Amino acid sequence: MSQPRGTVVILGGGPGGYEAALVAAQLGAEVTVVDSDGLGGACVLTDCVPSKTLIATSTTMSVLHGAERLGIRGDGRPGWGRGSVDAPRLYARVKALAQAQSADVALRLAAEGVRIVPGRGTLAGPGTVLADGQRIEAGSVLVATGALPRVLPGAEPDGERILTWRQLYDLPELPAELIVVGSGVTGAEFAGAYQALGSQVTLVSSRERVLPHEDADAAMVLEDVFRRRGMTVLSRSRAAAVKRSGDGVLVTLEDGRAVRGSHCLLTVGMVPATGGLGLESAGVTVDGQGFVEVDRVSRTTATGVYAAGDCTGVLMLASVAAMQGRIAMWHTLGEAVQPIRLDHVAATIFTDPEIATVGVTAAAVESGQVDAVAVKMPLATNARAKMQGFRDGFVKLFARRGTGIVLGGVIVAPRASELILGVSLAVEQSLTVDQMAHTFAVYPSLSGSVTEAARRLMRPAGDELRDEL
Ligand SMILES: Cc1cc2nc3c(=O)[nH]c(=O)nc-3n(C[C@H](O)[C@H](O)[C@H](O)COP(=O)(O)OP(=O)(O)OC[C@H]3O[C@@H](n4cnc5c(N)ncnc54)[C@H](O)[C@@H]3O)c2cc1C
Repeated sequence: MSQPRGTVVILGGGPGGYEAALVAAQLGAEVTVVDSDGLGGACVLTDCVPSKTLIATSTTMSVLHGAERLGIRGDGRPGWGRGSVDAPRLYARVKALAQAQSADVALRLAAEGVRIVPGRGTLAGPGTVLADGQRIEAGSVLVATGALPRVLPGAEPDGERILTWRQLYDLPELPAELIVVGSGVTGAEFAGAYQALGSQVTLVSSRERVLPHEDADAAMVLEDVFRRRGMTVLSRSRAAAVKRSGDGVLVTLEDGRAVRGSHCLLTVGMVPATGGLGLESAGVTVDGQGFVEVDRVSRTTATGVYAAGDCTGVLMLASVAAMQGRIAMWHTLGEAVQPIRLDHVAATIFTDPEIATVGVTAAAVESGQVDAVAVKMPLATNARAKMQGFRDGFVKLFARRGTGIVLGGVIVAPRASELILGVSLAVEQSLTVDQMAHTFAVYPSLSGSVTEAARRLMRPAGDELRDEL
């Protein structure tokens, strides 16, 4: 048997960990993954995959709600008309799908010869991991232990009425009146989903608008849609405490107002799962909040110890965790490696409509930090959007002034998560708006608005690129 190319131990079996394991195994390393809660990690078992499965049902409900406008009459037959949600069945589907996805990850790792050690691992030095009563020595260690829901003092979850998103799928019914505290990505996704599923939703936002860190035009479209669909959005309202009250919950705001509901979902951020891992004694520096400090090839401050994913706080996305993990393995096993480029990350907020972004932001362009021109094409004029009955959304494109190189974009549309790939490719490959504009889009299609946006930014010979925001 040939000698392994190196030995790697990975703490955590989420996307940061398992994607790294696959790369390392492919490169011929001897790989062990230590995982405490199930392969696929929180991503597959409690966070990303379950929430997107729930959202698959809620977007179908939205389609049903809009069916009459498209000429469909509900005739009372089960499955037709507006429909209502069978919560136990929905939650059973969510959990079964998560388990199946986790099993797929386990099979894939086993097929690549990766050794799995169930249990919680700790570092006993830069190249030594203790787990399941074993002492595992390795040339390289990757810490990919993820993050946990942040808990507000005075608003401790009880798993019945006061909930984190990880506890939703054990509820026996749909919350009748759901108060969502926090209007970031997770809060907006769940608020929109439950409103569509049939709950009466109140969204408590401490900021001026929902999604305070996202494109302002996109956030405004979404907030408008939320309000039109009957959601109560409380802006500039910070929750001070959440308590059980009779059969429901009472959320007290900092200004003294109180909001009553049947359930409260807390979406107020994440804290890194890095406590008690032995990081400090192994020479791994964490920041003031406990996130592991890493460079762009995932190295920590300890030689041979890498970190990836939510425990680094770099960008809390499964795709970023996976890329950090792969980069760590390419680096430690001596492959050519490109440092991670966070300015090229494509991301989506899975609301209805979805908000997908890549590259530079409007804020960076407007502040003059990036010298770019921009155009915004409303979806309302797109023929396909009209046919499907969509009117909320737009395509926004940014291009470097002078050269016309595409620097980024924002798409607000149903399935924007799929549409953004064209813009993402342009950003990654430094394509110009002229090249995008000469690319065929299908007629009629929503992606036609992407090429049209590029056309709007094309430079007539000798002219400056135009700005049409
Ligand atoms: C509600 C929600 C929806 C999301 N949706 C999306 C989305 O649509 N798209 C997207 O890209 N991202 C999404 N994310 C973010 C995504 O889930 C995370 O970025 C991703 O899970 C990070 O992967 P990870 O490998 O760092 O950690 P995790 O997925 O958290 O996995 C870490 C694993 O390590 C285990 N572990 C912890 N400590 C130890 C230890 N000491 N020893 C052994 N094992 C340990 C944990 O139990 C866990 O299984 C979402 C997040 C949330 C909260």
